[in-house]
Amino acid sequence: RLGVASGDPDHQSLVLWTRLCAEVLQPDGGLPNAPVEVAWELADDERFTAVRARGTTLAVPELGHAVHVEVAGLPADRWFHYRFRAGDAESPIGRTRTLPAPTVLPERLRFAFASCQHYETGLYTAYGHMAEQDLDLVCHLGDSIYEGKGRDGLVRKHHGGKLQTLHDYRVRHAQYRSDPLLAAMHARCPWFVTWDDHEVENNYADDHSERPNVTPEQFLQQRAAAYQAYYEAMPLRRAALPKGPHSQLYRHAAYGRLVDLFVLDTRQYRTVQPNGDGRKPLNAAARDPGNTLLGAAQREWLAAGLRRSPARWQVLAQQVMMGLVGHRPKATPAPAKADAKTDAKTGQSDAGPAHVDELRFAMDQWPGYFHERAWLLRQLAAQKTANPIVLTGDIHSHWVNDLRLDDHAPQLPVVASEFVGSSISSGGDGEPAAAELAALQRDNPCVQFLNRQRGYVACTVTPELWTADYFTVDQVTRPGGVTSLAARFHVAAGQRGVHRD
Ligand code: FE
Ligand code: CA
Repeated sequence: RLGVASGDPDHQSLVLWTRLCAEVLQPDGGLPNAPVEVAWELADDERFTAVRARGTTLAVPELGHAVHVEVAGLPADRWFHYRFRAGDAESPIGRTRTLPAPTVLPERLRFAFASCQHYETGLYTAYGHMAEQDLDLVCHLGDSIYEGKGRDGLVRKHHGGKLQTLHDYRVRHAQYRSDPLLAAMHARCPWFVTWDDHEVENNYADDHSERPNVTPEQFLQQRAAAYQAYYEAMPLRRAALPKGPHSQLYRHAAYGRLVDLFVLDTRQYRTVQPNGDGRKPLNAAARDPGNTLLGAAQREWLAAGLRRSPARWQVLAQQVMMGLVGHRPKATPAPAKADAKTDAKTGQSDAGPAHVDELRFAMDQWPGYFHERAWLLRQLAAQKTANPIVLTGDIHSHWVNDLRLDDHAPQLPVVASEFVGSSISSGGDGEPAAAELAALQRDNPCVQFLNRQRGYVACTVTPELWTADYFTVDQVTRPGGVTSLAARFHVAAGQRGVHRD
């Protein structure tokens, strides 16, 4: 019922996943409260004539009858097929692959990244398009489920109320994964997954809930349930198995010497959003050196990994936007050029850029963690021979940003390029937003692209060139949406900064 998945490959091993389920919307999956034996097979070919590895494992009720098999001892840079059997039930067949050996410089990697797949606000049409591409892997950057209660009048409806217990989160993951387009994409190639906020609750920070009446102790109980259900639902290694409300999800993968992938977790260890969250000025509270998205341990791990990275491209697969994009306060909208006049307070022409102090920034994103962002960009700038790329989800819109130590100082050198991928379905059909882009660019020279339709980004990576294909879907609120290439950007190795093709 929930399909198959694979994930977290290295050059010799990977994870095969399924979860036994007879009734998708039952807390126990409609299964007995007892272990069930599951047989698995991994073969070189789709017809399973050349089986490379097989075994049996137990699907236990304590883990929602989820199965995570870590298959090791595999040859590097190879595709495989896999399937499961339990009793007389046979799973669909999945495709997966190992990564190239760490010493090799591969000619090419093609992968997609995606985020934000709200079940109620749209169909997974983008995954249908993604499945037709020739991809080596997928990175999912979070919001793989949403925690809200079922609402009427939308495209589809969540089963049940707002998520709180392990059963609640389990059923929600199962409902999402019963979507045939999502299940088919999981079966198509290995995924590297990470979470954002909605796998637990909107804009949570460590043990801090947005709801004022919830104590840290209460929230950590809920987080433990959510983290366990996430582990059960995803093709993760045993190393990510939660211990209570803790799970180490940040990790590294090497695609030979082409890409070092750093998968980050910017929720579990972060300090509370400054200035009460929302869009606020880049003030002293936002610049407080005590603010952290990564936490000390992840920060040190990342710095060490970047320092010794031998790869051509250093990739941060993470959640929230790093570009310091400022918005004018609602009360003083950007005027059209035709009626431009001089602002009495600032002495500036309204048609010119606003001063950074006049702008408002998202406190849930990297601007609210300004000091740590500057630290990270200094780390990236120090990697003189390397090519840093930041991948981002969260905000249900496509962006391309040049990242500098100060994004409002375009005379500074570009340090890294940020590709923000739009949502698969969250937010409904959306719009191209060309006028909004033009207005934003006047105040934010870092912004190279914006589109508020649904979609995903596919990247082709070679030793010389990074190419990012921005796909958009014309409608997700009805079946039959058409996916097309909205824009293509590239970064040349050794030359920081992004260019539109
Ligand atoms: Fe989202
Ligand atoms: Ca989010």
